[in-house]
Amino acid sequence: MKDIIIIGVGPAGISAAIYLKRAGLDPVVIGKDYGALSDYPEKVENYYGFGEPILGEDLIKEGINQAKRLGIEIIRDSVIALDQIDDHFKVKSVEHKFQSKTVVLATGKKRQTLSIPGFNKFKGKGISLCASCDGYFFRRKKIAVIGCGPYMAHELDVLKEINQDITVFTHGSPLLELVSFPVVTSKITRFLGTDKLEGIETEDGNIYQAQGIFVAIGAPSSIDFATKLGVVVEKNSLVVDHTYQTNIPGLFAIGDVIGGKLQIAKAVYDGMMVSDHIKTYLKSK
Ligand SMILES: Cc1cc2nc3c(=O)[nH]c(=O)nc-3n(C[C@H](O)[C@H](O)[C@H](O)COP(=O)(O)OP(=O)(O)OC[C@H]3O[C@@H](n4cnc5c(N)ncnc54)[C@H](O)[C@@H]3O)c2cc1C
Repeated sequence: MKDIIIIGVGPAGISAAIYLKRAGLDPVVIGKDYGALSDYPEKVENYYGFGEPILGEDLIKEGINQAKRLGIEIIRDSVIALDQIDDHFKVKSVEHKFQSKTVVLATGKKRQTLSIPGFNKFKGKGISLCASCDGYFFRRKKIAVIGCGPYMAHELDVLKEINQDITVFTHGSPLLELVSFPVVTSKITRFLGTDKLEGIETEDGNIYQAQGIFVAIGAPSSIDFATKLGVVVEKNSLVVDHTYQTNIPGLFAIGDVIGGKLQIAKAVYDGMMVSDHIKTYLKSK
């Protein structure tokens, strides 16, 4: 059992890890990429300590190197599921499974959306971002899962307990998992329906019936994790108290994911502050 798993290797997650490590704790940090600053060609000019502007991605790499130099375990992987079991958490990534007394969500602000006509119209009215939250409502309907990798496979595992009438749509990507349901690889061009979702149209001109669609592309965002665990979310940000704890004991959140100033300095500050509160939380256990 780990004491602390941090999800996110951006400024918030790495800052928290550094302060926790220096306080004698042993956090494990899991991140799938360089976060908000990935592939951004403009340089960062407003963060303290750089005489010359620095590429955002280089700044993030420096942070990761600093953490590694301090002996912090950094894992490059996508977290695909987070569950609460009694007084601890189960964290599942593509390659690993962990149990931890606390989890810190430092996953930034990305949100799963699809720029396909009909997505916004039917989101929450047939299109869902969470199989374990909404799967039950579609137990006797035709359902579709959109995705091609481990996150899709995870959502499919949840859904197949409830319903067997499932088609997987990879939306033009190659299928990366073995699945025992029909698979459509053609790109989706439109979600169909008048008041309610009725189906999916694909680039090759086919139309498929579907009353429930579950989007599981890439890796889940923290809002997806949070919704599944029952964390309070307001205006697309996780709600935390003054100790950065969500309404789930032991589940903390920092950086862009909790809103406020979406800036590196603020994310680093959150990381520093949460470390004290996690120490106090663990001592109280
Ligand atoms: C284009 C752009 C330019 C910007 N320029 C500036 C600037 O000049 N100055 C400034 O101060 N701020 C700037 N910002 C804002 C700044 O990038 C963010 O405020 C900061 O990166 C937030 O840090 P964070 O750690 O909260 O999130 P992020 O840096 O976004 O890091 C999120 C981390 O979570 C990981 N993650 C997410 N989901 C999962 C999952 N399921 N499994 C595993 N890992 C996951 C990601 O891989 C990443 O490591 C810019 C933002 C953008 C988008």
